[in-house]
Amino acid sequence: MGDFLAFIGLLGFFAGLVMLIYNFIKKKVKKTAVIITVVSFFLFITGAAISGPSEKASPPSEPPVTAVGQQESEQIESDEKEIAEDQSSEKTEGASQGLSEKDKPVATTPGATAPASTTTVTGQMKVHFIDVGQGDAILVQTPTQNILIDGGDRGNTVVNYLRNLGVNSLDVVIGTHPHADHIGGLINVMQSIPVKEVIDPGVVHTTKTFEDYLTLIDEKNIIFTEGRAGMSRDLGGGAKMEILHPVSPSSRHLNDASIVVKITFGEVSFMLTGDAEQAAENQIRSRGYDLNSTVLKVGHHGSRTSTITAFLNAVKPEVAVIMSGKNNTYGHPHQETLAKLTEAGVKTYRTDLHGTIVITTDGQTYDINQKQPYQYTPPKVPEPATSSPTPTPTTPTTTPTPAPENKLSVISYTETVPQGGTASITVQGKPNTQYSITVTYKSGPSKASGLETKTSGSDGKVSWTWKVGANTTPGSWPIDINGGGESVRVNFTVQ
Ligand SMILES: [Zn+2]
Repeated sequence: MGDFLAFIGLLGFFAGLVMLIYNFIKKKVKKTAVIITVVSFFLFITGAAISGPSEKASPPSEPPVTAVGQQESEQIESDEKEIAEDQSSEKTEGASQGLSEKDKPVATTPGATAPASTTTVTGQMKVHFIDVGQGDAILVQTPTQNILIDGGDRGNTVVNYLRNLGVNSLDVVIGTHPHADHIGGLINVMQSIPVKEVIDPGVVHTTKTFEDYLTLIDEKNIIFTEGRAGMSRDLGGGAKMEILHPVSPSSRHLNDASIVVKITFGEVSFMLTGDAEQAAENQIRSRGYDLNSTVLKVGHHGSRTSTITAFLNAVKPEVAVIMSGKNNTYGHPHQETLAKLTEAGVKTYRTDLHGTIVITTDGQTYDINQKQPYQYTPPKVPEPATSSPTPTPTTPTTTPTPAPENKLSVISYTETVPQGGTASITVQGKPNTQYSITVTYKSGPSKASGLETKTSGSDGKVSWTWKVGANTTPGSWPIDINGGGESVRVNFTVQ
């Protein structure tokens, strides 16, 4: 209404003005022109006065139907984005709101609702130890950033996991070292999800997987940083990451070149060690860092070559996480490591037994989605009679101790074979039992014919014969044999 009046008034005002000017030129004075101009001007002022306030005061009458429709569809769209995928807004907005959206798809643990923290952290941090079989893949979600440390072997396991969580971009990706069970899956990740920065030790490896990984970093123009001890990153929301290793990595010892980081959120911290072994652990200890951490990602899939006692004592974790595949050919995790952790009173979780392990923390307390830690019980070995001062008065009802001749052992094998030559191995196992063999060269497990799973005869013996490829990298390579609940490994040399 006001708009209409103002419009008519303005029209009349200009019409009156034109008439006045016309009259002035013709030197005539007509009252009508003056009246029209004055009345129109008054109309315009009145109309403007009515319409001005009404715009603000009466919103229900104001927004046109189309505008309402638009608003609604935008709202729906943004809701879908929030729930289904979009994480990008979260990074700029930061904070608790974004995190709570993101948390929805995850099976959260009870009691994780953050009590007011006395530290400087805000919101929650979640660390996902993703079950990728034999390999590592750890997603760290701070209140404002997503960091991925390793991606398991090639394949989409990690990409799918990230998508399900609604993680659509990664702030930092760390390839701890160039082995395929760590960087293979990062290729799929970088193909599918925007990555801002890759940190790796900067050592070279002559595999197709490593080449593809480097090519992608280059193609996607991802910032590349050689990770070195002493570097750190602010991960947002009070989370901090320090790189503790390496200093001068060598491509001859790729495991010990692993990037080792400590991520701290308030009073809860995570020591993530890649495949670092004894030598690296000793070097890290010698640098004088505060290694004490709440959670230790055990080095090299629980191999006995990692987690030396001195390192374990320095880290003093409450919780250990071992990332290894079910029935892997390496026998990871090794009994020695499991025994050490249990002895030290560390609650141990294993991806091969528990699946994906998610630890949620508010900076003071933490929750684990798996409630029952793994408990190591030493294998039942018949005690030598002399060693036990307490006699066993009653004979146990079950005597599961296997006869010694059933122990899986290698009878003979080709210790050294030239490239292109033929190798063989014979083992003594249990009668009529299936045994599998894995020969792992630098390029990965061999697919040579002759290495199929076999069933032992009534004498328990099994033999395999296979050809070593003419291009096989010379070196000492493991032969792993598994079956009947036992495994054995020997190394043979290709020249
Ligand atoms: Zn590994």
